[in-house]
Amino acid sequence: VGQQISDVAVLGLGGMGSSAAYHLARRGKSVVGLEQFTAAHDRGSSHGQSRVIRQAYSEGPNYVPLIRRAYELWHELEQTSGVELLRLTGGLMIGAEECWIVHGSLISARAHDLPHELLSSAELQRRFPMLRVGSDVALFEERAGAIFPEACILAHLDLAARHGAELRFGTRVEAWRPVDDGVEIVADGRTVRARRLILTAGAWAGPLLAELGLPLQPERNVIFWMQPVTKTAAFGAGRFPVFIWHHPTEPPLYGLPDLHGEGVKVGLHHSGVTVDPDGSRHGTDAADVVAIRRSLDERIPALNGDIRASTVCMYTNTPDDHFVIGLHPAHPQVALAAGFSGHGYKFASVVGEILAGLAIEGSTPYSIEQFAIGRFEAGVARPGPLGLRGPQE
Ligand SMILES: Cc1cc2nc3c(=O)[nH]c(=O)nc-3n(C[C@H](O)[C@H](O)[C@H](O)COP(=O)(O)OP(=O)(O)OC[C@H]3O[C@@H](n4cnc5c(N)ncnc54)[C@H](O)[C@@H]3O)c2cc1C
Repeated sequence: VGQQISDVAVLGLGGMGSSAAYHLARRGKSVVGLEQFTAAHDRGSSHGQSRVIRQAYSEGPNYVPLIRRAYELWHELEQTSGVELLRLTGGLMIGAEECWIVHGSLISARAHDLPHELLSSAELQRRFPMLRVGSDVALFEERAGAIFPEACILAHLDLAARHGAELRFGTRVEAWRPVDDGVEIVADGRTVRARRLILTAGAWAGPLLAELGLPLQPERNVIFWMQPVTKTAAFGAGRFPVFIWHHPTEPPLYGLPDLHGEGVKVGLHHSGVTVDPDGSRHGTDAADVVAIRRSLDERIPALNGDIRASTVCMYTNTPDDHFVIGLHPAHPQVALAAGFSGHGYKFASVVGEILAGLAIEGSTPYSIEQFAIGRFEAGVARPGPLGLRGPQE
């Protein structure tokens, strides 16, 4: 009695939750945000300084309208916050002509009239002599580049707080339940009440939504920052693009140029190792180093120098690698966004806007059918081959 009821509670203030809190607070809603760790921490899915951002989306042309809106919102956030949040370095999608990375990007580029260039093996080799191209080709997209997740999260949180959001860190939610006029959330032995709940718990989402039985699988993935062996300048942001490179039998190799003097960031997309988000496999080990060195040796030997830093980060995979976004089927006062399958960060700005719409109006003008919560039960989702995931046609 007498306890304050917020309009919306946001459970998890990582990539998606920080954005949702911002959009809600900006629209005048009273927001309470609950986060188990600190702002822009390194225990979930949104750390490591940079993420690839691109528009010619190999995972499917339906993502393109969302990514266009995401770019608009990122640029807006950059202006409002006065902080550099992304850098468009150009991007290469490399592989055999028919692989999902090259072919999928081309389908999206053509369907949405996105500026792009197709590079033959010879042209790719000429422009990027440090790559061992072989017979691979590439789609080059000038508007691809890098986005800085920690800076974005801090900008979203800072602006949310300035619009009145109450953000509680070091606060782990133990349980939530629907009540007549909203939800009750138990965190640190206290009860928080709100009319709506937005659940953006990343790799921890599965157990908080146990009754939905969503097939969400946290996967451990490692990122390395490499010191080039020679020609360090050739890998700087003005000259070297972001890239994703398909492989016929191994996980794709991706990388980002040296953006702030920290080294060239590389990783293998989808390691295939399932992990408990509260478990201990947070350090890198010898097998991780062997895998990345083998890939670099085969494809970009000039990058196979000293390892300057590394970190472990989690994907939360769905069987078809598409996101899960929508209203809880049994409790419409709850909106959720999870299962970003290792490619979600670039969308965080628009996902926050979508979640705010779902919480306030119960709907969104954006097309989110392909992210439907019920698609797994219905057997509509088609599995992607682990480690070689891509759009299933
Ligand atoms: C190695 C790696 C490379 C990637 N590369 C790219 C890329 O190039 N481009 C791209 O677009 N995407 C990329 N991604 C994916 C992208 O980063 C993720 O999809 C995105 O960050 C997911 O955001 P999230 O908000 O769902 O998760 P998070 O940011 O982890 O947020 C979830 C939050 O919920 C909190 N939480 C969970 N449970 C509770 C609880 N019970 N109580 C309180 N708080 C709780 C967590 O502490 C966390 O802060 C990559 C991911 C990784 C790991």
